[in-house]
Amino acid sequence: MRVFSFLWDVRGYFFWLLVVSALCLVLERIWPWRRDQKVLRPQLAQDVVWLVWNGHFAGMAVAWGADWLLGRVYGGLHVPSPESLRLLSATPPGVQFVLFFVFKDFMDWCGHNVLHRVGWLWEFHKVHHSIVELDWIGNFRFHWFEVVFYKSLTYLPLVALGVDRRVILWIAVLSTLIGHLNHANLRADWGPLRWIFNSPRMHAWHHDAIPRGGHGKNFAIIFSAWDWIFGTAFLPGAPDQPEQLGFAGIEHFPRGFLSRMAYPLTRRSR
Ligand SMILES: [Zn+2]
Repeated sequence: MRVFSFLWDVRGYFFWLLVVSALCLVLERIWPWRRDQKVLRPQLAQDVVWLVWNGHFAGMAVAWGADWLLGRVYGGLHVPSPESLRLLSATPPGVQFVLFFVFKDFMDWCGHNVLHRVGWLWEFHKVHHSIVELDWIGNFRFHWFEVVFYKSLTYLPLVALGVDRRVILWIAVLSTLIGHLNHANLRADWGPLRWIFNSPRMHAWHHDAIPRGGHGKNFAIIFSAWDWIFGTAFLPGAPDQPEQLGFAGIEHFPRGFLSRMAYPLTRRSR
């Protein structure tokens, strides 16, 4: 199966990742929120490595794995044709897009909650929360295990059901754009739309060093509505952003790319 091959097409996901990244870089220059924050901040070079690694290589590796797995599943079930399992393949792409967009974002919200509430998963997610200065590129600082975790929850079931690969590509690109914006150094909370859409100002509170409510708040990726509905939203009028980002004990967290990759597996149990 070659469902995920759009990831390495010339105009595939990585191409759009670069376009979206350039757009956010420009927006941050025009309307910076924290004006004293430098573009060439500490660990920027490492975040470029995370962007290329997670946005391209880890994504491709997981995609190959998923294609292989789907091939085995379809083969193992001895169904007459893989199409017979693709219940959504006849649904118009526009309908698929809306269904998949909402479904994926809700699964992302659920998964993000779990990453914060289950101790050993939080150790993986700490890589993302090691961010101490938010800007768009921080969106791609996360452990490769999160690629496996989120893709298994979101893309894999939909691919198995036969969602159109162009729909998957556009959902992935749009999710990346909104994820970049959430982390960007832009003072935006979308006004009355903040009840529906996540924003840089709301997501900054997700990165607060103080874990509000015990496990943190604002788990949404795209629709903040999940947080407002399920009581996990936090958006004070003032101050407009947390004093410090990160988590308790961040000063002992490894700082190198490889040591952060290895950290959840090599950490000494406490
Ligand atoms: Zn988080």
